[in-house]
This record gives sequence, structure tokens and C-alpha cells, in this order.
Amino acid sequence: MRWADMGLKNCDICVIGAGMAGLACATRLAEAGLLITVIDKGRGPGGRMAARRTEIAGETVSFDHGAQYFTARDPEFHAAVKGWEEMGVVAHWNAAGEDAFVGTPGMNGPIRTMAQSLDVHWNTRAETITREGDAWKVEAGETTLIAKTVLVAVPAEQTHSLLGDVASEFGDIASQAKSAPCWAVMAGFDERLDIEHDALRDAGAHISWAARNSAKPGRTGEEAWVLHAGPARSRELIDLPKDEVAAILLADFFAQTGTKPAEPVHLEAHRWLYAMAEAVKGEAARYDAQKRLGIAGDYLHSPRVEGAWLSGVALAERVLAPG
Ligand SMILES: Cc1cc2nc3c(=O)[nH]c(=O)nc-3n(C[C@H](O)[C@H](O)[C@H](O)COP(=O)(O)OP(=O)(O)OC[C@H]3O[C@@H](n4cnc5c(N)ncnc54)[C@H](O)[C@@H]3O)c2cc1C
Repeated sequence: MRWADMGLKNCDICVIGAGMAGLACATRLAEAGLLITVIDKGRGPGGRMAARRTEIAGETVSFDHGAQYFTARDPEFHAAVKGWEEMGVVAHWNAAGEDAFVGTPGMNGPIRTMAQSLDVHWNTRAETITREGDAWKVEAGETTLIAKTVLVAVPAEQTHSLLGDVASEFGDIASQAKSAPCWAVMAGFDERLDIEHDALRDAGAHISWAARNSAKPGRTGEEAWVLHAGPARSRELIDLPKDEVAAILLADFFAQTGTKPAEPVHLEAHRWLYAMAEAVKGEAARYDAQKRLGIAGDYLHSPRVEGAWLSGVALAERVLAPG
């Protein structure tokens, strides 16, 4: 359905970015009774908590190629996670640590759930934000959205390019957060690899993280692994074609674990240009009540799922604060 047909050209609050920060913010504002429209350039729910589905030997297999698991130390976030656990969209995954949770049946489980109760429009990329009288005009491809308030919850580098001209103070804050890239490899095998542990970490190595994705709760498929290259290795390979990178990193993985190389039945790589943000010090979210413009994201709190949620909620609280 087209936007015009749905009469959505005008809205009170437009949230740009339906990742953990944007949806946490939108959920809190919707709970307070406000009408929110969320737009996201992605094809579906996930952001950096994405899950990619693929067919392997006639079976649908989902790989978590972004965030691998998350912890919940803040009491409020912990309560939200418990709620998702009761709904069956997150579960404990002890292989990553006693306090580790994953989304189910894919990492994007909680994102999908939050999005379902909000007005979210996928495949809608905000290109420019400009002033339109006392409102904001968001141009997103064929869509133009007029909103009294705009809240931007996209990675720091993209925040800088969206807001640099209209709110340089926010653009400047975002430009302080430098993100490290990460090459992720998704590999499927028709036999179990001779590796005992389901999760391996080695911060300084070429492969800084490897997980038997098929061992996470609620996953289907035989033997599926996700490998993450560390920042240095990711930068070294940054401009190589995906297929080449996948083969190089798979070889790194076998060498690093001392495992006999096996031929994958599925192999692909994904490049995250802005994977892990270096968080900017200061408030967890920024809001200019006069301009009715705000920013949230992991880069304002801590580069994790929990940090993104806390930033999103902090932005909502700023919007709801009296006066
Ligand atoms: C490879 C990798 C591994 C990670 N591992 C972990 C981990 O193990 N544990 C952990 O806690 N965290 C991990 N993280 C970090 C975690 O995923 C992030 O901190 C968190 O998901 C960030 O949420 P966010 O909402 O701030 O940003 P995002 O999830 O990036 O959401 C931003 C959204 O904005 C959208 N967007 C961007 N630009 C536009 C635009 N112009 N218009 C419309 N929409 C736009 C994007 O499509 C995206 O959906 C990992 C991240 C990566 C990439």
C-alpha cells in the first residue's frame, strides 16, 4: 500500500531507525499514548541484531550475522528482557555466558515483536531532514513525511550525514563516535565439525568470535557457524569481494581452531561497516525540546544491545519530560 493511500504523510513523531534504540524509544512513547511513525531502510526487522534466512539442503536455516547474544544488567532492561522471555522471543544461551540471552527463533526476535505493535515502514530510507514551518520534513525516496518531532536512531556515521546540516550540534556529537567494521561469515556444513565448544572468543586473533549458530535455542539446521573477524583483520580485508573474504576467514577459522578443514555446503560473508561504536561520553540520548529533534543509539551509551535499548528509552523520557 502506498503512503498517500494510508494518509501517513503527516505524523506527530517520526522515529528514523527501527533497531533496538529506535524501537525501545517508539515503544515507550506509544505506551504514553503518542502516535509514532517509524521508518527504516532495511527490508525487515533487525538492524545490527539481524538474522539472515537461507535454504540449505531444502531446510530453512537462519544465521545471526550481527549481534551474537546480549546481557541485561540494568534492572529496567532486565525486566524488558524477562517480558520477551515470557513471550518466547528471547532465551538464555549459556554457551556465551551464564547471563547471556539470544533472540529466538533468530536474534531479531525482540525487534520483530516490538515492531509488530508499532507503525513501522520498512524499505524507507530517510535521505534528508529539513525545516518546514514549525515542523520537520523527512524525505525518504518517494515518501515525504511531515512530523512535529523527529527522533533519529541510526548508527553514528549515518546520524552525522542526516543531521550535519540541520542540527550541527547533534552531527558533531555523532561524528565523535568512530565505529569499527566487522566481516561476518555464515558457514553451513553437512556434518558436525570436531569442535567441542559452541562459542569461541579470542579478541586479538583474526577470528575474534565464532559460534555454532545451530546450537542456539530454537534454531533449525544441521551445523551452522557464524565467524566474526576482529577489527584489524576486518580492516585488512575491507574492500575485497565477499566470496574471497568468506574463503579467507573460513581458512583462518580452521587454522585458529586446529580443525581439519571441511567443505561448507553454504558459505557467505557480510560486511558491517559500522559494527561496534566507540561510545561518546555524556548523556545517553540528546533532545532539543525547542527544535523537537533528538538522537539515540548505542554510540551514546555503550556499543551493545543493552546500551541501544537504554539510549532509546532515555530519549523517550526526554521527549515525555514536562516543560
Ligand atoms: C557484527 C556485530 C556483532 C555484535 N555483537 C554484539 C554482541 O554480541 N552483543 C551485543 O550486545 N551487541 C553486539 N553488537 C552491537 C549491537 O548489535 C548494537 O549495539 C545494537 O544492535 C545497536 O542498536 P541501534 O538501534 O543503536 O542501531 P542499529 O541496530 O544499527 O539500528 C539502526 C537502524 O537504522 C536503520 N537506518 C540507518 N540509516 C537509516 C536511514 N537513513 N533511514 C532509515 N533507516 C535507517 C538501519 O536499517 C537499522 O535498522 C554487534 C554488532 C555487530 C554489527
